[in-house]
Amino acid sequence: MADVVKNYTNGEITVVWQPDKCVHSANCFRNLPSVFNPRINPWIQPHNADSAETIAVVLGCPSGALTLAPPSNPSAD
Ligand code: SF4
Repeated sequence: MADVVKNYTNGEITVVWQPDKCVHSANCFRNLPSVFNPRINPWIQPHNADSAETIAVVLGCPSGALTLAPPSNPSAD
């Protein structure tokens, strides 16, 4: 069984989704349906809300199916 890992970015943050871990609690699309909408494809649209709102929902995912990719290195100055 392949471990599927999908990434969705708004250019600022990247939401990582691991469907095999999802327990279908519905927390994500109840709390932020503009970003998490299983009726459309792709079902995660991080550009539809402030990154802070999306981060809060990702951190509230009870299964660990939603996580955040480590931030890329800021450009050195
Ligand atoms: S909050 Fe997490 S476990 Fe619940 S439906 Fe969304 S991705 Fe799946």
